Amino acid sequence: MSAAAEGRPPAAAAAAAGEMVREATAWCALHGLVVGDRADPRSGTVPGVGLVHAPFSLLPTHLPESHWRQACELAPIFNELVDRVSLDGDFLQDSLSKTKQVDDFTSRLLEIHRKMMEINKEENIRLGLHRSDYMLDSETNSLLQIELNTISASFPGLGSLVSELHRTLIDQYGHLFCLDSKRVPGNEASSQFAKALARAWNEFNVDSAVIMMIVQPEERNMYDQYWLAKHLKESYPFMLFLSSTCPLTIHYTWHNDYQENFVRDGKTVSVVYFRAGYTPNDYPSEAEWAARLLLEQSSAVKCPSISYHLVGTKKIQQELARPKVLERFLENKEEITKIRKCFAGLWSLDDEEIVKSAIQKPELFVLKPQREGGGNNIYGIDVRETLIRLQKEGGDALAAYILMQRIFPKASLSNLVRGGVCHEALTISELGIYGAYLRNNDKVVMNEQSGYLMRTKVSSSDEGGVAAGFAVLDSLYLT
Ligand code: ADP
Ligand code: MG
Ligand code: MG
Repeated sequence: MSAAAEGRPPAAAAAAAGEMVREATAWCALHGLVVGDRADPRSGTVPGVGLVHAPFSLLPTHLPESHWRQACELAPIFNELVDRVSLDGDFLQDSLSKTKQVDDFTSRLLEIHRKMMEINKEENIRLGLHRSDYMLDSETNSLLQIELNTISASFPGLGSLVSELHRTLIDQYGHLFCLDSKRVPGNEASSQFAKALARAWNEFNVDSAVIMMIVQPEERNMYDQYWLAKHLKESYPFMLFLSSTCPLTIHYTWHNDYQENFVRDGKTVSVVYFRAGYTPNDYPSEAEWAARLLLEQSSAVKCPSISYHLVGTKKIQQELARPKVLERFLENKEEITKIRKCFAGLWSLDDEEIVKSAIQKPELFVLKPQREGGGNNIYGIDVRETLIRLQKEGGDALAAYILMQRIFPKASLSNLVRGGVCHEALTISELGIYGAYLRNNDKVVMNEQSGYLMRTKVSSSDEGGVAAGFAVLDSLYLT
C-alpha cells in the first residue's frame, strides 16, 4: 500500500508539514477555531482571555462514502424516534425505575419528569438538537452507534470550522497528498442549529420573546457557544441571552414563582437551550434543581425537555436495543432495520450470563454509568473489578450501569496538533452526525441531518472527549 493510501504523507508532504501546522494554527486564531487555555485561570469565564487553538487533526480522516450516507440517512429517523419515545412517559419511568434506586442524578431527573406527568404537561412545540455518534467496527466493517446525545450536543460551532480549515489546507497543499477539497463534505452545523432555534422561536409566536442559552459558570468551550450566538444574532432579528455565571440559580431567584411564561428581565423566554444541566456538577444546590423544574413547568420550548433528556440516557439506549422495542415506536419496517443495523451489543446488568462473560473477557466490553460529558466509562481490567465489587455489594447496585460491546475501529496514522505542536500517532475516529428536529403539534417543521463532527484520538486511549482532553477535532474525507 502506498504511503498516501495509508493516510501517511509522502516525503515531500512530510517536509511541508511544519509549514502547514503554522498555517493551520494561524487560521484557527483568525477564524475563531479556539478554546480557553487551561493554563489561564480566567479562560473559562472571561471571553477573549487566554485563548488557544482547538486541538485538531492536520488532515481529515478517510471515510467510505457509503458509511457517510448511511449515517446521514439515520439522522431524521433517530430524530423521529426520540420524539416518539419522549411521548411515552411510562416507558421512560419503567425503564429507568431500577436505575433510579441507585443513581441520584437519574432519580432527580425522573422526579421532574414524574411531576410533569402528574400535571399532564404537554409540550406542543418540541425542539431536539441531537448528535448521534458512531464508530466503524473493523471486524464487521459496520457503522455502530456509540451513543445518542439529546442534551448539550457540543461542537456544532467549532466542528463546522474544522471542515473549513481542512478544505483550505487541501486547496493549498492537497496536491502533495493527492487530496481534493471537494471530498470534504460541507458542514453547516452551527448555522443549522441556529436556524432550528430561530424556527422554534417563530413557532412560539411572541415577537418580543427571547431565546435563552443556559451555560456553565466556567466553560472553556465557550467559543463553540458564541459561534451559535453569532449566527443567531446575525441572521435572525431577535435577542439572545448568553448567561455566564451560575445561570440556573440566577434565573431561579429572578423569577421563582411558577407562571406559565418564563420571564427574564421582563422578557418572555420562548426557547431555553441547555448547554449545561447534563451533569450532577451543574446542580450544586437545591436551587438549580428548583430552577430546572421551573423551566420545565413553563411554556418555553425546552431544548431538551426533560423527556428528551431522558431518552438520551445510556439506559434508554440499551432498552431500545432489546427485541421488539423499536417496533413500539416506529411503524416503518425499513427504518427499523436501518436503526437496528447500527446498534452494537447492549445489555442490562440483570443478565447474569453477560455479566459473567464481561468478568471473563472485560476487554470486549465497556461499562457505562448514566453520565454525559466524557471520562465516566469503565474499560479493560476495571470492568472486571467493578463488576465483582458491585456483585458483592448486592441489591440493585448493578442497575446504575449498562454493558456495551466494545467497538474496535481500524487504526490509522494521523497528525494531531495541540498547543501548536504536531504529533504523529496511531489513531481511531468517531463520527458524530447532528440532527435538528422541530415539531408543533401535528406539524413537523424540521427534521434534518444538520452537519457533522469527527473526533480523532490516539488508539490507545479508551475515552474520546475533546473537552475532556482525550481527542482532537477533525473532519472527514470521503473515499
Ligand atoms: P459520553 O456521554 O460521556 O460522551 P460515550 O458513551 O460517548 O459517553 O463514551 C465516551 C467515549 O468512550 C466515546 O467517545 C468513545 O471514544 C468511547 N466509547 C464509548 N463506548 C464505546 C464502545 N462501545 N466501544 C469503544 N469505545 C467506546
Ligand atoms: Mg459521547
Ligand atoms: Mg454523551
